[in-house]
Amino acid sequence: MATRNASRGVLNVSEIPTLVEEYARRSLHRDSGAVYPPSAALNRKLSVLRDDITKISADAIVNAANNRLAGGAGVNGAIQAAAGPQLLEESLALNGCDTGDAKITKGYMLPARHVIHVVGPMYYQHDKKEANRLLESCYLRGLQVAVENGIKTIAFPSISTGIFGFPIREASPIAINTVRQFLQSAEGNTIERVIFVLFGREDEQVYRTTIPKYFHQSE
Ligand code: ADP
Repeated sequence: MATRNASRGVLNVSEIPTLVEEYARRSLHRDSGAVYPPSAALNRKLSVLRDDITKISADAIVNAANNRLAGGAGVNGAIQAAAGPQLLEESLALNGCDTGDAKITKGYMLPARHVIHVVGPMYYQHDKKEANRLLESCYLRGLQVAVENGIKTIAFPSISTGIFGFPIREASPIAINTVRQFLQSAEGNTIERVIFVLFGREDEQVYRTTIPKYFHQSE
């Protein structure tokens, strides 16, 4: 189990196991069919855990925001509450954000230095193909904005699968595949760790079943 700074409940990236460690201790199971060749180097760059994303001390955490970059419920509400009012002040001055795009602010009182705000699609507002494209764009733009800002460690929640109604079984392969493609591209070379942070036990289980299809066990 990951240990943590007991006083604030903060979890440092160095305390979060990577896929290499998870496979070794069998908390993650090999999948028989693999989409990509196995890569220990990439498995060292990915983590999955069930936690509150506001506790993660990464260079950036990602917020599932809305088009106005205003306050809201869900993970957005939790991030706003933990960061303090300056986060909302800065994000409201950014003139909103398109669906599928990303914008960055400071993290203020969060243990993370930055927040990257992405706006996921509302599942029932688009046809399936467009919803999938917009969700993929959220992960890609989030990662691109991270690289542009020198961010090396980044934690993602499960975008659009709460209030925005995207079924997590459809969303998780898109999230995981987009991260895989980015990490193995030249553009994603400087990213050292991507952490998928799930809030519910079932959501975590869906990710733990899907990840080995895209990040196959390497030895
Ligand atoms: P969206 O509007 O994009 O659907 P939500 O905030 O409603 O965003 O939900 C996105 C996901 O974030 C959901 O799976 C929800 O369970 C999860 N979530 C809510 N609070 C937190 C938190 N503090 N840390 C991590 N994930 C969270």
